Amino acid sequence: MSLSYSEQIQKLTFVQELDIKILHLENEKASKPNELKNLEKMYLMAQRSWDEKKEEASQVQTKMTQINGALEMNHSRMKRAEEKLQSVSDNKEFQAATKEVDQLKKMSADLESQKAKIQDNFNQFEESLKDLEEKCNTVKTEMDSKAAEVSGETQKIDGDLQELLSERKNYLSDISNSILSRYDRIRKARSGMGMAPMVGNQCSGCHISLPPQAANQIRKMEEIHECPSCNRILYVSASAE
Ligand SMILES: [Zn+2]
Repeated sequence: MSLSYSEQIQKLTFVQELDIKILHLENEKASKPNELKNLEKMYLMAQRSWDEKKEEASQVQTKMTQINGALEMNHSRMKRAEEKLQSVSDNKEFQAATKEVDQLKKMSADLESQKAKIQDNFNQFEESLKDLEEKCNTVKTEMDSKAAEVSGETQKIDGDLQELLSERKNYLSDISNSILSRYDRIRKARSGMGMAPMVGNQCSGCHISLPPQAANQIRKMEEIHECPSCNRILYVSASAE
């Protein structure tokens, strides 16, 4: 047996209560990923700084390899020059060979001092690389734990939503399709509120005053009445009047 209009509207108020809770939970669920965004940004930044430092370090490493190569080459040239110095036969050759050895010695000393500077530089790089890696890992840990937290909370919301939706479903068979479809349409257009109680002669949804005749019709609770301003289904509840 189908329910009277007034009884159906009574059931619809329960549906609306559930719908408001459902909307609230859906909004909460949708906002959950925002809690992660800041940490994700921080992690990306930390990773970028670390990558940049690694790139700089690899350039320093390349320079070091080049200097080591130059030093090695200089070393063998020096060896040859010193051998030549042993076997010179006249003064002119002696002077030329001595000059070459001196030049090579000077070059080696220059390269050694460059190498020492780079080594210093490199040690600093290693330290800041370690710091950056640590920072990256710390943010990652924080991000992962927040992600787990968000996922747990989202799961809880999903569970609550399931419960509310099945509770909602129980009421639907008692309400006529025409009332339901009108309610759903208005609800979607009016941020979740498809019906509003009339309080006094006012629509409590948009606070417009209704003409006395219309208010009287609504009070009878015999057929559907929409607010002329916000279109919500108007009804009279025992507690509101
Ligand atoms: Zn209204």
